[in-house]
Amino acid sequence: MLYPWNATFFSQFKQQSIPQALLFFGEQAIGKFNFSMHLANYLVCEGTHDKPCQQCQACHWFSQANHPDFFPVLPENQSYLLEKHLQLEIDLDKKEVSDKKLSKFIKIEQIRDVVSSNILGSYRGGKRIIFIYPVESMATEAANCLLKSLEEPSPNVIYILVTHRIDLVLPTIRSRCVAIPVPKPKEVDSLEWLRLQDSCKRIDRDDLGALLTEHGKSPLKTLQAVEGGAFNGQVVIEQLSRFGDIEISQVIDLLAKNSLIDILNCLYRWCIDIYLSKSNLPVRYYPRWADKIKLYQDRMSFSQLSQFIKFLMIEMKLASHPLFPKLQLESLLAKYAHLFKA
Ligand SMILES: [Zn+2]
Repeated sequence: MLYPWNATFFSQFKQQSIPQALLFFGEQAIGKFNFSMHLANYLVCEGTHDKPCQQCQACHWFSQANHPDFFPVLPENQSYLLEKHLQLEIDLDKKEVSDKKLSKFIKIEQIRDVVSSNILGSYRGGKRIIFIYPVESMATEAANCLLKSLEEPSPNVIYILVTHRIDLVLPTIRSRCVAIPVPKPKEVDSLEWLRLQDSCKRIDRDDLGALLTEHGKSPLKTLQAVEGGAFNGQVVIEQLSRFGDIEISQVIDLLAKNSLIDILNCLYRWCIDIYLSKSNLPVRYYPRWADKIKLYQDRMSFSQLSQFIKFLMIEMKLASHPLFPKLQLESLLAKYAHLFKA
């Protein structure tokens, strides 16, 4: 399924020939996965018009995650995304139990498997698609193996690479691909889409708008938060709004089910809002907390705050594969609390 805000973007690909190696990049949770899966489906579809037609044999196989010329490569702990996207049955209970044992990295064997099978012709006589998501989760050896294949691609292969962090993609891989930014949905389109979702129908428009802002304008993260799944920034913000009295352990506990980067994003946006407020500008991310921020903004100096924000940005770059997420978060929160105690 293609999200409505990507429809125009997608239609551009129908009007031109597709480069052999594509690297889609953009913020997390704006629909890159769905978009690139839709494009892959479009490329294997054997229908005559309105591709992907969802009628032909190829589309049928694709919808069952069974197309012989489609090679998705994801880290084990994200492979459920494929099933979720194709709406195949996933046993969520089983997923929770096993998540911790699953690898966060794309391993060299996974890349080797798809690359070696692509020396052969395609089963259906069309293109073979190698789909890698997200590129930055490739271990170094895996990235090098992919690079070799990108340097000498078989003529019938199309690479669809997707990344949330283009700055982490090896320059050698980047230079072999056509890098294309996936547009972020406009606020008005996100709101319109959210309002059509069952779980959002009881929320009034202004509140929904505030929630969208609090979740970095990502409609998908907002929906997840409303539905109580995945990450809920509210818990983090409630703690950050205690300023010097933050209960660090409450935030640390969130790491059991959420990623470090989601939590750090909240912290970053919160600090930006304090900065804006101190500069007598309207807050950008958490308007519902603007009054409280005003009360505390003078407890710290501009220089301390901007130093902390700079430090936080460096830590966020390291946060996609943290070695010790608990320690990293704990020390950042302690530094945050200390800003108000000085
Ligand atoms: Zn089709």
